Amino acid sequence: MVRTGNCGSGGITALLVPADSPGISYGKNEKKMGWHAQPTRTVSFENVRVPVRNRLGAEDQGFSIAMQGLDGGRINIATCSIGTAQRALDEATEYVQQRQQFGKAIVDFQATQFALADMLTGLIAARQMVRLAASYLDQGHAQATTYCAMAKRFATDAGFDICNQALQLLGGYGYLQEYSMERYVRDTRVHQILEGTNQVMRVIISRRMLMAGALEVIQ
Ligand SMILES: Cc1cc2nc3c(=O)[nH]c(=O)nc-3n(C[C@H](O)[C@H](O)[C@H](O)COP(=O)(O)OP(=O)(O)OC[C@H]3O[C@@H](n4cnc5c(N)ncnc54)[C@H](O)[C@@H]3O)c2cc1C
Repeated sequence: MVRTGNCGSGGITALLVPADSPGISYGKNEKKMGWHAQPTRTVSFENVRVPVRNRLGAEDQGFSIAMQGLDGGRINIATCSIGTAQRALDEATEYVQQRQQFGKAIVDFQATQFALADMLTGLIAARQMVRLAASYLDQGHAQATTYCAMAKRFATDAGFDICNQALQLLGGYGYLQEYSMERYVRDTRVHQILEGTNQVMRVIISRRMLMAGALEVIQ
């Protein structure tokens, strides 16, 4: 993304830049709380020359191209949260049936059953929301962006909460690296930040809702 015009969102152009172009350098691989399978580095551009034929779309159209990509990216991140939450719920469900405390399996405590019920409800609601947003994106629905933002916000919050709750159900073992649960919590935490933070999702949702009217968004 390169500044080609005024200082607003209309003054940005998208270019395809070969990763090994002279002038590109990569920062150190950042140490992160989670997502250790994914390398994260800054990419710096200094006097990189790019031929005009590498331009994506028209000049000054880059911001809207980036925004279009983000809708699908948000579905992607939301789906990562749902998949991880499903796995966390599966593992926690198995664990609470095996672990004995006070003379019975911890699944026999109603508090455990209620936790499982809330986790499953949150998971199903999040999955349905992501599927609805994905179908609107496929259809080119006028409110697809709003739905993608809502799905990303909801599913990533639900995904983190479910993983965190699953960790709690494992008690002290949940906190140990020997079990996967602490990794699920660390890995889903960043989903609330990536592809636009969940606060920024709320900015998008409320702005679009106030522009179009709540009824327009619901239809
Ligand atoms: C592991 C990892 C991988 C990443 N990969 C990529 C990548 O591949 N490509 C890429 O471009 N970026 C990538 N990022 C960057 C990521 O997209 C940004 O970190 C994210 O969008 C948040 O932006 P920021 O860090 O500048 O936070 P800031 O914008 O500085 O926000 C800081 C805080 O202020 C809040 N805030 C900001 N604006 C508002 C507002 N208007 N209203 C209310 N609250 C607000 C935020 O919600 C947040 O809580 C990556 C980040 C991480 C951690």
